[in-house]
Amino acid sequence: MQTLRTAAEAAQAARRLARPLALVPTMGALHPGHLALVASARRDGAAVMATIFVNPLQFGPTDDFARYPRAFADDERQLAAAGVDLLFAPGVEEMYPAGFDSSIDPGAIATRYEGAIRPGHFRGVATVCMKLFGIAGADRAYFGAKDAQQVAVLQQVLRDFAIGPEIVVVPTVREDDGLARSSRNVYLTPAERAAAPGLYHALQGMADAVERGESNRDRIVAAGRARIHTPLREAYLDVVDPVTFELVPDIATAGSAAIAIGSGWLGSTRLIDNVPLNVAAAVAHDGIHESVAG
Ligand code: AMP
Repeated sequence: MQTLRTAAEAAQAARRLARPLALVPTMGALHPGHLALVASARRDGAAVMATIFVNPLQFGPTDDFARYPRAFADDERQLAAAGVDLLFAPGVEEMYPAGFDSSIDPGAIATRYEGAIRPGHFRGVATVCMKLFGIAGADRAYFGAKDAQQVAVLQQVLRDFAIGPEIVVVPTVREDDGLARSSRNVYLTPAERAAAPGLYHALQGMADAVERGESNRDRIVAAGRARIHTPLREAYLDVVDPVTFELVPDIATAGSAAIAIGSGWLGSTRLIDNVPLNVAAAVAHDGIHESVAG
């Protein structure tokens, strides 16, 4: 694996890689979730390029940029062992040199949920990803389903500008107790770590309600909320359209897809997660009601 630090060198090296080229952008502090992206990229790409860049633009003033975990030597070893061909790991001055002055504003989708809690976050994500996409010139880029709103925002931008790469979404990798893997899980104290699967349990409660035929958003959210207990504190739980991230009041009338999204605080650490909802179950149940009613 070749490791490069400058955009010019990385762009030149990427152009020489076999096609289709698969890109895996990360902020490092790698865990099995990241490695699942690399594994998917290897399966359908002829070559794989990974990036490690802790992007200051996507962190707000009260966010954890300074203390975000960094483990470059270990990350580099893991990516090489996983079969990555090219690693681009720029410094902040390389990505945002003097005179860098543009940004991508993804619009309304970036103002909801994560965007409401972290103003400017998705502008930072979209801006860095557009630059990484430009440098890599990849055919496909791999992102985790765990960050569902990030995926939706990037899809929106790529759709709006009619540009590639194609986004491939990789299912969330979890610990045995259900907690979604995250670089931020290292912040949790033992007591917080013990309570952390509660967020996934709440989302599963929402998915279970849908399996039982519930289609109303308020009642689905209530089923999740019933599973949130101290020390876990809800930041949000909701039922949304995975493309627009608009609230879905009733999934039986929503059309094709809906997901349960959630976020919870444990001390000063905030977790996010989501699960798909079986819209067909709610629609089928709705149909039963209608036929009973005649
Ligand atoms: P990050 O380094 O946290 O910015 O994440 C880099 C990529 O890895 C993003 O596309 C994330 O969605 C993805 N990712 C993070 N955690 C997981 C996970 N538990 N399962 C699958 N993908 C993940």
